[in-house]
Amino acid sequence: VARIRGLVKDFGDRRVLHGLDLDIRPGEFVALLGRSGSGKSTLLRALAGLDDETGGELTVSGEIAVAFQEPRLVPWKRVRDNVVLGLRRADAKAAAAAALAEVGLAERGAAWPLTLSGGEAQRASLARALVREPDLLLLDEPFSALDALTRITIHTLVLDLWARHRPGVLLVTHDVDEALLLADRAVVLDGGRIARELPIDLPRPRRRDHPEFLALRTAL
Ligand code: ATP
Ligand code: MG
Repeated sequence: VARIRGLVKDFGDRRVLHGLDLDIRPGEFVALLGRSGSGKSTLLRALAGLDDETGGELTVSGEIAVAFQEPRLVPWKRVRDNVVLGLRRADAKAAAAAALAEVGLAERGAAWPLTLSGGEAQRASLARALVREPDLLLLDEPFSALDALTRITIHTLVLDLWARHRPGVLLVTHDVDEALLLADRAVVLDGGRIARELPIDLPRPRRRDHPEFLALRTAL
């Protein structure tokens, strides 16, 4: 769903991305790791079309949805209206309610964004991305502000939704365990260059049937 060739991004006279090549195949879950400042968010913003690239080629087929670390909800619209913002669908109201229920926010649809906790706002922003059933889902550390238990619930939710709709996913994370749990492939960025690409060859059923994982799930 995404093809990146020779992607270069400069901020002023500073080069932040040094000619990246990366493919995300349909239905593939890719984790993007790397130190702070290595260019992960810059790459995502370029893919999302939020920033112009300085050079190189970016091809994305299909619809993209993005969830950022900071939820970026529109403060003067209720949570449920944020979820389906800009979505032209007759059943938008029902879709918003369903998506909010899926992220555990069924009761908060009528709330104003500024009254949500950090984790709730992050989940609302995830609902907004998921409701679009995108072909490519770009996630920039969307789980980082969640408590450990909520994070496990959301991991399960993301895996379930991913299994159902099979979007390509690019997930920025600092959490290696999260990458191992969720992704098919890990890409490590270092100083605006791809330092490593590693397949993660653990079948998902085994991971999700792991006793510790199940114990935690049933404890929730
Ligand atoms: P983190 O893990 O901390 O989120 P990151 O890998 O996402 O880091 P980026 O946000 O992509 O890093 O930033 C890469 C580099 O580009 C950083 O050195 C940053 O200072 C610089 N940079 C990012 N956005 C801008 C901007 N709008 N103007 C100037 N420099 C920028
Ligand atoms: Mg970042």
